[in-house]
Amino acid sequence: MSNESLANLMTEDRRFPPPAEVADGANVTADAYERAAADRLGFWAEQARRLDWATEPEQTLDWTNPPFAKWFADGRLNVAHNCVDRHVEAGHGDRVAIHFEGEPGDTRSITYAELREEVSRAANALLELGVSSGDRVAIYLPMIPEAVVAMLACARIGAPHSVVFGGFSADALATRIKDADARLVITSDGGYRRGKPSPLKPAVDEALTRPGTEQVRNVLVVRRTGEETAWTEGRDLWWHETVGRQSPEHAPEAFDAEHPLFILYTSGTTGKPKGILHTSGGYLTQVSYTHHAVFDLKPESDVYWCTADIGWVTGHSYIVYGPLSNGATQVIYEGTPDTPHRGRWWEIVQKYGVTLLYTAPTAIRACMKWGDDIPAKFDLSSLRILGSVGEPINPEAWIWYREHIGGGRTPIVDTWWQTETGAMMVSPLPGVTSTRPGSAQVPLPGIGATVVDDEANAVPDGNGGYLVLTQPWPSMLRTIWGDDQRYIDTYWSRFRAGSVPGVEKDAPLYFAGDGAKKDTDGDIWLLGRVDDVMLVSGHNISTTEVESALVSHPKVAEAAVVGAADPQTTQAICAFVILRGSAAEDEGLVEELRAHVGKQLGPIAKPKRILPVAELPKTRSGKIMRRLLRDVAENRELGDVTTLTDSSVMQLIQAKLPSGS
Ligand code: ATP
Ligand code: MG
Repeated sequence: MSNESLANLMTEDRRFPPPAEVADGANVTADAYERAAADRLGFWAEQARRLDWATEPEQTLDWTNPPFAKWFADGRLNVAHNCVDRHVEAGHGDRVAIHFEGEPGDTRSITYAELREEVSRAANALLELGVSSGDRVAIYLPMIPEAVVAMLACARIGAPHSVVFGGFSADALATRIKDADARLVITSDGGYRRGKPSPLKPAVDEALTRPGTEQVRNVLVVRRTGEETAWTEGRDLWWHETVGRQSPEHAPEAFDAEHPLFILYTSGTTGKPKGILHTSGGYLTQVSYTHHAVFDLKPESDVYWCTADIGWVTGHSYIVYGPLSNGATQVIYEGTPDTPHRGRWWEIVQKYGVTLLYTAPTAIRACMKWGDDIPAKFDLSSLRILGSVGEPINPEAWIWYREHIGGGRTPIVDTWWQTETGAMMVSPLPGVTSTRPGSAQVPLPGIGATVVDDEANAVPDGNGGYLVLTQPWPSMLRTIWGDDQRYIDTYWSRFRAGSVPGVEKDAPLYFAGDGAKKDTDGDIWLLGRVDDVMLVSGHNISTTEVESALVSHPKVAEAAVVGAADPQTTQAICAFVILRGSAAEDEGLVEELRAHVGKQLGPIAKPKRILPVAELPKTRSGKIMRRLLRDVAENRELGDVTTLTDSSVMQLIQAKLPSGS
């Protein structure tokens, strides 16, 4: 970004106070902000006591060697014990931990007592296979309960896992196996996707032919589809045999709070994925606290469902470690939202009486495009809180979510965080905050987050700049796996605090890479990646704001906006839009949309070009990849496409562009 701050174009006056039924008896009330402000470290020490420690920590934060943090360093705990055994010991063994819904309609309900047996068996199997504390295990599985069991078994024996999203290719898998130097791969014959069995094991076989993967001794294979599978004798083992014959008892050992828990690669939205390292005690403290606070989880009565894949950080923190450490009952669904019909998700909500739902803007926009009549066919009255994560949620999508899924009643928690932050950082609290469509609003209790300008001074309310984290937090990444220098360079080298309230001058600030603004009430709005911000005739303009203006037009379901080099204005705004079901791509449409953006945001934000397209390029985690659209708009060769869902989308878009334009 240049010296010019982000132009503050969008205004949003709608506010929704917390409903009485959530505010009364909320897990976390307004005083949490005060307690955390008065004694931040004391606040986190108090949250750490939510966990069961073998050795209670006396130290809270060691920040003597920034940016390398240690949290609760003299404490010892077992993460899997905290997620499973202690609930059984507390008398909740019969509570369902997981309601599994397979795509073909098969179901399994697993209680905490059963989960303890499964995790213990799997831990015993890993030990038998020679995996020991500190060894890395790669997990490449569909959304089936064994994915959760495998992760917890690794945690139980202190072997850091590296989960690779099941939709990734053999190449992506090989790079991640090699980077983490994994000793074991846990996979399955396949999973169900769009009504058909889809194989996984062949990608593992291929990945293990690549140089750098020779350290992998065994492949443990879950039988899910029963399809025929190639087999390497001596290396490959069936899960049901190897895990199945183990003892259901395993005594968990305590590890240091800073023992590595997992490595996870970022989504690759902005470039080459980074292997993010998370450790045990601080991570579990913050995912557990934030899940309790932001979803107001009542473990005895709530049914929680997070639709993310376990291969993303949202799956790690808010399917596995957060909910299970809190003793939640949750739904896990294997398949796609439109198989066998576009109401599948809402059917699942109705069937299990889901009360807390956590999903992504991309899914909400897809449902908007499919039509209001689909969710209307189901009884969604059990829902009490709705969450959003992954991208900025356009105000119109937020309103649609609240109206058509939440029955106009439910608070929406728009949670900003990253793979690197490990847990939620900026979000409303459902029993406290008056929510505002499109804004993630306020840092959670105990979190320091603000918006700064180029000189790292906090911007006054009503101004834009960069989102930074001003204080170390318990679930922060500890480094980029094997590359401390890249960790320092990427996150901690851009800003030393100028004038930032509550922060010592020159203290290092964590640079999140996202543009943001503070509105006149001090609420934080995320405005897209800093790399994507557009410079038009001397003004920095946010991609998010122009996209949200387009999505607020009744004919537009989804929009992606980029700045393309332009001789007159430095950059020109170029928009790619997906139209809603019935809208026609007629002559006047482009002019109508340009005028609409002009009216919403002002003439400076009118896109120079608007191109209706059938699909947008997205990462496997569902985020729009604007850098590829910029490559197209500027007639460049496409950059790294390895984390793209479907590469044919780019060919379709390129074919729509008049050549030489
Ligand atoms: P890479 O770092 O490899 O480019 P990525 O940033 O997409 O990939 P993630 O860690 O999965 O990988 O995503 C974090 C990013 O997602 C944030 O930096 C932010 O840009 C975006 N994001 C997540 N939640 C929100 C939210 N509630 N509002 C706005 N943006 C969000
Ligand atoms: Mg990122």
